[in-house]
Amino acid sequence: MVFKCQEDSFLRQFTTKVLSCEAATLDWIPPGETNAKKLQGYNVICEDTILFPEGGGQPCDYGQLNGQPVRSVIRKGAEAIHFVETSTRFEEGDVIKQSLDWNRRLEHMQQHSGQHLITALFDSEFKYDTTSWWLGSDTSYIELDTKHLISRESLDLIERRANELIREGRVVTVQLEDPEIAKEFQDARAPRGLPKDHVGLARVVRIEGVESNMCCGTHVSNLSQLQCIKLLYAEKSKNAVNVHFVVGERVLRKLGEIFQREQQMNLALKGGPTQHLELIQKLQLNLKSSTKAFQKLLKDVAISEAEKLENTPQPYPKYYCLHRKDGIEPDFINTFLRNAPEGIFYFLTVSENSSNNGKGLMVLRGSENEVKKFGEIFMELLEGKGNGRDTNFQGKFNNGSKIPECNAILEKHFNGDKIKK
Ligand SMILES: [Zn+2]
Repeated sequence: MVFKCQEDSFLRQFTTKVLSCEAATLDWIPPGETNAKKLQGYNVICEDTILFPEGGGQPCDYGQLNGQPVRSVIRKGAEAIHFVETSTRFEEGDVIKQSLDWNRRLEHMQQHSGQHLITALFDSEFKYDTTSWWLGSDTSYIELDTKHLISRESLDLIERRANELIREGRVVTVQLEDPEIAKEFQDARAPRGLPKDHVGLARVVRIEGVESNMCCGTHVSNLSQLQCIKLLYAEKSKNAVNVHFVVGERVLRKLGEIFQREQQMNLALKGGPTQHLELIQKLQLNLKSSTKAFQKLLKDVAISEAEKLENTPQPYPKYYCLHRKDGIEPDFINTFLRNAPEGIFYFLTVSENSSNNGKGLMVLRGSENEVKKFGEIFMELLEGKGNGRDTNFQGKFNNGSKIPECNAILEKHFNGDKIKK
């Protein structure tokens, strides 16, 4: 079966008949989103279709049946099943109008024909086989069967050659062949071959003077329709190398996005693109030394707090609380405890700055019984988890808003009797 979309990949409207319609649901991820939505609708099979069913590495088309959105098209044997998101069912024999989301189709055709072209060039220039390819929603890649990482110079060579062929406007044709004859064009580069449930003639896609390849996808009719190809980068993946690329409209979109980001960076960094890297490195260095200075100061504060306590007139208080909100800096607590006098029950916290109910770290030091008892109570109040050993208890908490309540509990425990008197 050759669908209308494969016979004429430029047809955007088509009238056909409904063969069957069944109620169905579909888990669909809307373009640009990550979470699937459950859609209610119908699976509709038509006499023919201009909407390409997912296959050969190319995602399905979107479009409409009688104005109702088609969210997925899959091929089953000789039939294409359209999932239509609608509450109105289609009747068998209905004459309906199909329309195609042309921008999506054009983008897919450009990436797919572009893939054939660069696959052929990597084969002829370097004898690298393409073992698979991926048409992503942003960029695409081919997987090349080689262990050598491909240099920028090699990518530039292929890119230059591909764009030369685009400028020459080589013709792209699709011929229908007997599957046995078509197998000749199922070379090592495209080992997938025909799917098991394929029926009828096979399609051979030819780029004039470049290559012939068996393929089910929709393709441009002339390389000039690819506009241009950019090979972005090559990366190693297991025993292969992936070459990432964009073709046609995507080159323009990507360039637009990059330029916009560049302008935002100019403003944020107060410098032009050629200085960006240098300015960021400078910022990183500054941040590193500021962090170092801050930690040193915080340690000094811890020591001074401990000394202040040590210098208070005897007898020392029975318990002592200290809560800092300069960020979760365990060093502050450790330094304080190393310098603080013995014989006092300590309740110390360091937590995220700026908010009262932020996350933080808590340390208790005191007698084994008290540490265990208050550790458990405080962790529950502060929504945290921790454990104690001997005279120490340490825990992480998620909600610091109840710290004053914890302080009050200690006040009552240690000084409650005194107040009563
Ligand atoms: Zn293909």
